[in-house]
Amino acid sequence: MNVLVINSGSSSLKFQLVHVETGGIITKGICDSVGSDTSFIKYGMYEDEQVVKVDLPDHVAAVQKVLELLTSGDKPVISSLGEINAVGHRIVHGGNYFDKSVIIDEDVVAKIEELAELAPLHNRAAVQGIRACQSYMPDVPQVAVFDTAFFQTMPPKAYMYPLPYELCEKYGIRKYGAHGTSHRYIAHRAANMLDEPLDELKLITCHLGNGCSMTAIDHGIAVDTTMGFTPLDGLMMGTRSGSIDPAIVPFLMEHEGLNTDEVNDLLNKQSGILGISGISNDLRTVTEAADKGDPRAAMAFEMYSHSVKKTIGSFITVMAGVDAIVLTAGVGENSRKMRSMIFAGLQQMGIRLDERKNKLRGFERIISADNSDVAIIVIPTDEEFMIARDTFVLVRDMKRAAENQE
Ligand code: ADP
Repeated sequence: MNVLVINSGSSSLKFQLVHVETGGIITKGICDSVGSDTSFIKYGMYEDEQVVKVDLPDHVAAVQKVLELLTSGDKPVISSLGEINAVGHRIVHGGNYFDKSVIIDEDVVAKIEELAELAPLHNRAAVQGIRACQSYMPDVPQVAVFDTAFFQTMPPKAYMYPLPYELCEKYGIRKYGAHGTSHRYIAHRAANMLDEPLDELKLITCHLGNGCSMTAIDHGIAVDTTMGFTPLDGLMMGTRSGSIDPAIVPFLMEHEGLNTDEVNDLLNKQSGILGISGISNDLRTVTEAADKGDPRAAMAFEMYSHSVKKTIGSFITVMAGVDAIVLTAGVGENSRKMRSMIFAGLQQMGIRLDERKNKLRGFERIISADNSDVAIIVIPTDEEFMIARDTFVLVRDMKRAAENQE
């Protein structure tokens, strides 16, 4: 089955055409700067990668152009849209409605639209992507895979905020989590590498990229996570503050004369590694500066590792133990120094990093010492594969059910 995976960001649309049975990626690409007059599409595999400048006023136009490129253009990868058997959409917010991936129908679209209040840019873009696919491929089944669905298993003690209960109810204020597809993917892969069933393991999964989140997964079930009502909560990130004393917000608004947009911008775009280092949100640049003796770069690095370390501790107590800690995304996969700092001093807790293995690069790898009670595993995330896989399973089951009814 060929599944077209569509990931509609606020101003981008990533796509990937996957042959699910073999896991082979037929092609992939990104529509960049959608909605601006500098939009372009980068697509193709390896040396065949091409960049085309195209006018993409919205996500409908982006989908139309992607379908055109797949079937025509300089190097068509399929002869007609008939070779696309299903479409899987990444949806940022599924609210309390969705605890798993679903086949898209009008009711699902209406709920995604309704939830746009919680993720305005992303959910609206996703609906545009869905509508465009429906109009160009009306008979092709489509599936919604939600970033938040994985966290719907969390108990109220983990997802509620201690605010007036009526306000939480009225506005749907609670922890929804984020990066769910990534956490789910690396948890499955980790269980596979450890050769243990996922429902017999206690895992802490760490998605450490520009956005950062961690999840406690107890016997296959997410029981706590760091991201909250919005993706601003939890760990310190590239440009986001993560959790801070909430009283700082009104304090800054008053003393700096900031309105809500400005304070939102400050917390989301001017804080985190960028805010502390004053240099960059990119940990590579900040690591270099720290190595050269820049004290604020070093402080940003230490604060970041401290926020991950502290969360490991709290999640161990939430689950009363841990079998493996799994790291992914730009920082988790690539920063040897950050991993060293995160796991430094945890030997007493049975968590021992093997510095020699920590130097290894590349694909999935276990980097803990042979005598470590807790495995430390690095797994490059693959959200697109997970979306393709969910789509495959749901569409296959739907077709089987239809055949059985005939
Ligand atoms: P996103 O959350 O945007 O998907 P990524 O998972 O691609 O982000 O992570 C991007 C971040 O990963 C970069 O900003 C950079 O800080 C970090 N990163 C990538 N490679 C390295 C490296 N070799 N050393 C340190 N940090 C790295």
